[in-house]
Amino acid sequence: MERNERSTIFRLIVTGILVVGGSVAASTAATHFSFAINGTITYRDSMLVSLIVPLLVAPPAYCYVAWLSWKLQRANLALDHLARRDVLTSLLNRRAFVEMAEARLADGLSHMLVMADIDHFKRINDSMGHAAGDLALQHTAKLLDSMAPKGSLVARLGGEEFAILLPHGAGDDAAMLVIVEAIRERLEQVPFIAAGGLTRITASFGVARSRPDERLDGILCRADKALYDAKNAGRNRLAMAG
Ligand code: GH3
Ligand code: MG
Ligand code: MG
Repeated sequence: MERNERSTIFRLIVTGILVVGGSVAASTAATHFSFAINGTITYRDSMLVSLIVPLLVAPPAYCYVAWLSWKLQRANLALDHLARRDVLTSLLNRRAFVEMAEARLADGLSHMLVMADIDHFKRINDSMGHAAGDLALQHTAKLLDSMAPKGSLVARLGGEEFAILLPHGAGDDAAMLVIVEAIRERLEQVPFIAAGGLTRITASFGVARSRPDERLDGILCRADKALYDAKNAGRNRLAMAG
């Protein structure tokens, strides 16, 4: 069960106790008061009323509060999504990626980071229009997200630059490089529809393995350097940081 679900259930239980307890207390006080003032009904009847009234009032009141709580949780989730996701691709944005990747690296284990940058992306914008460029970004994001191993953090860092933090234990360097190479190949091979026709793109990849106690800044910097080695070596390839 997720933290959000646990806190919602806890909130609903507490609200239920407060609603039922509150209406029993209010009703008991009211009937005692009326009994004390005029004594027109027996003490037994007044106690009966003090139980029946909450039984009638509490369920609808509780349902209303539960509905409000559910709506609030949905609004919070939507806000959280907006704050942590890239609007165009729905991948993690840079801020969320940095926060989550730093938390993962803090475990002291070895992680692999992949940076990807679409090749000659400016040419797509210039020759086919900005909308086609946006479609290329969405196409790339979908492909990275679907091919990254389960448990990876996949983000759009900005522009036409993406990052994947592979989960620890997903495999050794050789196995990871096979996965990255498969992503590169698939991106090269699978076309997408833009400006009324089929288009293909390629990307270059920089890969770095975290060193003991290395912070995110350090591994990002090394992956970025490897990425530029891949660009300088002719693009549409991957390079591993030393
Ligand atoms: P290289 O192969 O060296 O990476 O060249 P490039 O053309 O891919 O890289 P460059 O940095 O020259 O151009 C990146 C372009 O990406 C420039 C910018 O206008 C465009 N861009 C950035 N964000 C977006 C976006 O959200 N949508 C679109 N359509 N274009 C974007
Ligand atoms: Mg580029
Ligand atoms: Mg770039």
